[in-house]
Amino acid sequence: MNKGKDNKPHIGIYGRRNVGKSSFINALTGTDTAIISDIAGTTTDPVKKSIEIFGIGPAILVDTAGIDDTGELGKKRIRKTQETIAHIDLAIVLISNNIFDSFELTLIQKFDYYKVDYVIIHNKEDVEKLSNNTLNKIKQHTKAPIETCSVLESSNIAEVIELLKISTPQNAYQKTSLLGNIIGKNDIVMLITPVDSEAPEGRMILPQAMAIRDVLDNNAVNIVLKETEVEAFFSKNDIKPNLVITDSQAFNYVSEIIPRNIPLTGFSVLFAHIRGPFEDYVKGAEKISKLNDGDKILILESCVHQVSCEDIGRFKLPNWIRNFSGKKLEFDVAAGLSEIKNPITDYSLVIQCGGCMITKKQLISRLKPALDAEIAVTNYGIAIAYMNGILERAIEPFMINESVIHE
Ligand code: SF4
Repeated sequence: MNKGKDNKPHIGIYGRRNVGKSSFINALTGTDTAIISDIAGTTTDPVKKSIEIFGIGPAILVDTAGIDDTGELGKKRIRKTQETIAHIDLAIVLISNNIFDSFELTLIQKFDYYKVDYVIIHNKEDVEKLSNNTLNKIKQHTKAPIETCSVLESSNIAEVIELLKISTPQNAYQKTSLLGNIIGKNDIVMLITPVDSEAPEGRMILPQAMAIRDVLDNNAVNIVLKETEVEAFFSKNDIKPNLVITDSQAFNYVSEIIPRNIPLTGFSVLFAHIRGPFEDYVKGAEKISKLNDGDKILILESCVHQVSCEDIGRFKLPNWIRNFSGKKLEFDVAAGLSEIKNPITDYSLVIQCGGCMITKKQLISRLKPALDAEIAVTNYGIAIAYMNGILERAIEPFMINESVIHE
């Protein structure tokens, strides 16, 4: 399987006000661009900073506000700090002066909920060393690795970096090929891409660009064309692609042209397979046939982009689902990784985009509340394939070693 560098791991730094979080980041990065102040509670919105970790490569450090903040603004800061937990790959709990109490324990519970690995660092060793009492107290509550340092004296920083290196989950910085387990060297992959008002001027959208690159990384051959040229291609050529990947919106049209013995899937299905809870997505699509009048559907878009009248999440998908189900439905859209405003239990179905801009960890954490509440979850491409009656065909290329097609 093809491996390489993918998304940068996100490492969140958590702790009370003035345990030295921002100075700690500066010590790790060797710069002084994080916000530092002697006044407790200076950090407001989480601040991101790039870092290079030897053995891992580029990573993003996320500096957060104090978990013991007070007042109305403090509560907002704490909420923003807690929101970050769902989106990180590794957490650092920074403590000092032998204080490890309810604030830290609440954090740890959240890490456990989102299955986030974490380490505990006792900073300001120049002021007060980690005592055996505190060490034992920490060990009563967690098996997380513990390290000590003094940012002020720059002592033990190399050991802390080594701990981050061994504690960062490998899947946060190594990628699995999008296509590596379904195509081989010299295979021909046909990519059908729309060029409509949604397509950016002069370039491909990210899922298509990533698929093209992945085909090349697998030493296979790309044929890239618009859906309007597919029919002519097959009538003029004897070339039989080993796999066809289409924009999901052209599924219906394309599936009638591509001979049934040629595997066909969609870009969004491809990402559903590599990034999402694939089995849940496939099962969740059936909910579209069981919707009732008044049901609410939540559309999750993992990036913020300009909205046009051809926007798939806001216009096309809701219209297709209304037409398919014949029901009066309400749709909400949540873009980026911002908080979902209404309780997740308000929704009968959650439909996630391909998530090409985010990590698998971020996507799974985003869907976790819905999955925990047993709300049906699916993805754009799988929903579209389902409504076009070609879901089985669209997931076939991934079913070689899996058995999730409807029982
Ligand atoms: S993150 Fe989602 S909405 Fe944004 S480009 Fe990727 S698939 Fe589209």
